[in-house]
Amino acid sequence: MSSESIAPLTQEVKDLAKRHGAALVGVAGVDRFDPMPPLHDAAPPGHHPRDFIPGARSVISIAQPILSGVMDAPAVLAEADLPMIPPHVRRPYFDRIYGRVGHFVQDCMLEFVGQIVGQYLMSRGYQAMIFPTTGVHPSLPGLTDGEIWGGPPKGVAQTFSPFRYTFGPFSHRHAATRAGLGEFGYNNLVLTPEFGPRVRFNSIVTDAELAPDPLITRPICLRRKCKLCIKACVTATISTRDDPDVQDYRSVDAIDDARIFIDTPSKSDAPRCMRRPYERPDFPIRGDCMRICPIPKKPKRLPKHLQRLLKQGDCGWASP
Ligand code: SF4
Repeated sequence: MSSESIAPLTQEVKDLAKRHGAALVGVAGVDRFDPMPPLHDAAPPGHHPRDFIPGARSVISIAQPILSGVMDAPAVLAEADLPMIPPHVRRPYFDRIYGRVGHFVQDCMLEFVGQIVGQYLMSRGYQAMIFPTTGVHPSLPGLTDGEIWGGPPKGVAQTFSPFRYTFGPFSHRHAATRAGLGEFGYNNLVLTPEFGPRVRFNSIVTDAELAPDPLITRPICLRRKCKLCIKACVTATISTRDDPDVQDYRSVDAIDDARIFIDTPSKSDAPRCMRRPYERPDFPIRGDCMRICPIPKKPKRLPKHLQRLLKQGDCGWASP
């Protein structure tokens, strides 16, 4: 591919993605998926762009925001006295609303954008691979998600998912930082300058050579002086990777706050997060670790427990 054709093709792909609903589009060369300093995290086997297209040269990262009303209203209304909704149904009801228009809509639309971009690349003679936006849940007769992913059956020496939970085939968050759309925050999500953490990503892998976007050069997350996301989490799911009290395969000696977080400084305990609605009847609507984040601007409408956190430094939740 001649260097003269790289820029026009890149622009065509970006314009196409935006015309079909992507709010942000960035491009990473596949070399950016080699382990990079300071953390040198590597894609696990089966999750590297070249595992999907052996001659992959570029990864296109696409994103859509979660609307501010969707982020705020379900969390606030879940705490209100609403005569038409029985009190014991209120939280599951608003959690479902948030899940539908704060998760499912972007999941579907970003997959749609991926297909459109993939078709276009195919029409130009290139290969493309697209992905589900979120984790996949294969069903096996007689086994729950927890039993599939929770660890090996008794008597089997091999270990499987270290996450103990289902996961996606490709990390769209790692692709987004490598495509220059943002950096990881302490909430283990990717923050963009435009939307903070209130944004969802998907990716397209292709063997087309596209012009990479520059990486983020200035920190977006406020780092240790903030940590509101970690304090807001009712199930204490998030910890930094250098927390000596939470040691696992992701642990590192130190996180250098002066560096851009191209790899995540934090880790989440996904099974614990997903148990949230089952462990306490007063569970908060999913997304407090995004809702509380002051990037790109301080949230104006918060549920009472997050207002308490801002005023008193504590949500007032009893420990789970
Ligand atoms: S809440 Fe603060 S520490 Fe957490 S991601 Fe946002 S800016 Fe970073």
